[in-house]
Amino acid sequence: MSCLFCQIAAGNTPAQILYHDDLVTAFRDIHPQAPTHILIIPNQHLDGVAALAAGHAPLLAALFTTATHLATQEGLAANGYRLVLNQGRDGGQSVFHLHLHLLGGR
Ligand code: AMP
Ligand code: ZN
Repeated sequence: MSCLFCQIAAGNTPAQILYHDDLVTAFRDIHPQAPTHILIIPNQHLDGVAALAAGHAPLLAALFTTATHLATQEGLAANGYRLVLNQGRDGGQSVFHLHLHLLGGR
């Protein structure tokens, strides 16, 4: 298991974990692009959004509901926030384990 985000989800690589359950893990981005910058990932390895299939519906729901819960916890709900998914090199993806960026606070 050489994938960085698989290692974080498994607890083998340190990260500022904010949430973890059977499906997803959320942690602070190591190079924040906004006052709040959190990554929400599936615990299971998927290269990116292009790897999603209909059977991943519960996982997708968990990614987005975790993001909205964390946005509220971080005090972003009133003023709003961005959710970003980068797919592939030209889409700005640098870590090839699906992750949802939660950005807010400016
Ligand atoms: P992307 O460019 O969409 O693939 O985003 C990858 C994100 O992962 C970037 O915002 C990086 O700052 C972040 N990142 C890379 N390594 C780590 C790490 N060890 N812990 C937390 N975030 C990381
Ligand atoms: Zn992975």
